[in-house]
Amino acid sequence: MPVDESMIHDIVKKVMANMQITAPAAGMHGVFQDMNEAIKASIEAQKVVRNLSLDQREKIISAIRKKTHENAELIANMGVNETGMGNVGDKILKHHLTADKTPGTEDLSTIAWSGDRGLTLVEMGPFGVIGAITPATNPSETVICNSIGMIAGGNTVVFNPHPNAKKTTIFTINMINEASLEAGGPDNVAVTVEVPTMETSSIMMKHPSIHLLVATGGPGVVTAVLSSGKRAIGAGAGNPPALVDATADVRKAAKDIVNGCTFDNNLPCIAEKEVVVVDSVADELMNYMIQENGCYLASREVQDKLISTVITPKGALNRKCVGRDARTLLSMVGVEAGPEVRCIVFEGPKEHPLITTELMMPILGVVRVKSFEEGVETAVWLEHGNRHSAHIHSKNVDNITTYAKAIDTAILVKNGPSYAALGFGGEGYCTFTIASRTGEGLTSAQTFTKRRRCTMSDSLCIR
Ligand code: NAD
Repeated sequence: MPVDESMIHDIVKKVMANMQITAPAAGMHGVFQDMNEAIKASIEAQKVVRNLSLDQREKIISAIRKKTHENAELIANMGVNETGMGNVGDKILKHHLTADKTPGTEDLSTIAWSGDRGLTLVEMGPFGVIGAITPATNPSETVICNSIGMIAGGNTVVFNPHPNAKKTTIFTINMINEASLEAGGPDNVAVTVEVPTMETSSIMMKHPSIHLLVATGGPGVVTAVLSSGKRAIGAGAGNPPALVDATADVRKAAKDIVNGCTFDNNLPCIAEKEVVVVDSVADELMNYMIQENGCYLASREVQDKLISTVITPKGALNRKCVGRDARTLLSMVGVEAGPEVRCIVFEGPKEHPLITTELMMPILGVVRVKSFEEGVETAVWLEHGNRHSAHIHSKNVDNITTYAKAIDTAILVKNGPSYAALGFGGEGYCTFTIASRTGEGLTSAQTFTKRRRCTMSDSLCIR
């Protein structure tokens, strides 16, 4: 019988993806036992990458895009199996989105002034070796979009991933290096360590050859990079409120909010985490969410059980609940729900623990307010000053403008699901690193470059 090589290749990949990796570095490109060795390899690769033409960088990026499409299903499965969070179908979509809509070298632009005294350019040059810390919630998506943007900018990158997602990250980093090699680029354009820890993170942050740090995660890691004494981009936590006013298309708002909230089991930091709705349309909204969008209305008793299940006595999140689907969460509190249930809803005060906390679970607390003005105040309070993401459903441009100014977030989605902000059902590019705290907003290749002025005195102006 003839041997089908591609079938064998697929089987090997699937086995690799599902086995418990005890020695992950074996045969994996870009994976080292020692963080210093990883950084050394990245420094060597950077010497090559910074001298590649834009066209050559683009070839590497195209190969990464192609491999991401090819491996989307496999990596999505790995991510869910390893972290226990999210759902495979949505993670597949996230990988295709990352491959299609993360900007490459076209994102780099030049500013020029020419006149009587000559020509001056400001160009976007590489930072060099970048240190990146990535979350458990979107592990491979973040590694892929960071790598595309950073390589486009002429950099290489050292990752210290979340320990709970190391297997998925290692697989992704190997894939990125395979893509580079196949496109004629160097190995080690992205590197990591077999066992990422706080210690490897600290070595990376302190290394003298790393001048830019990019942290995607909760408040702890953002504070850590901002305290490093180096230039740092901090993509931190959010608690995005969706505000619904009396002018909204309430039926559509219910659908958009539930779709955004349940996408990948509410893992994206931009996803709707709670709803604030004016009294005059609150019943209608709840009705549409429950009757038409698979929402389960939690009683006071179920809410109390959920509080003690998903939040620990010390106020931290129970990691076993983060990124789980609504039916699983309900089964944890003794409620058997049918397959139609996608989201858990309830009405409560803004101080309710399931409303104030960034849960990253499809649990949607609804706060009823008397007026639009009270709605804005409540939503701003619930966002906790993260200035990350917020959403509004309204047909009144004055209301939208008032809300946008008051909440002052990196992302504001109007009349759509949250993921429209990532280019999924909305215009614009994709990223999984939204630099809310340090103000770069949705990161892309140009975020990972430094500005360099190049001046020719008294010539090259041909006007
Ligand atoms: P997390 O903060 O637990 O971990 C993120 C990363 O930081 C991991 O690699 C972790 O090992 C590391 N880390 C944590 N504390 C650290 C410290 N003190 N020093 C050095 N490294 C440290 O977050 P998570 O559970 O992986 O992800 C969820 C959180 O990340 C949520 O708060 C979410 O909103 C946020 N997030 C933000 C963005 C964004 O673009 N703004 C994207 C994804 C996730």
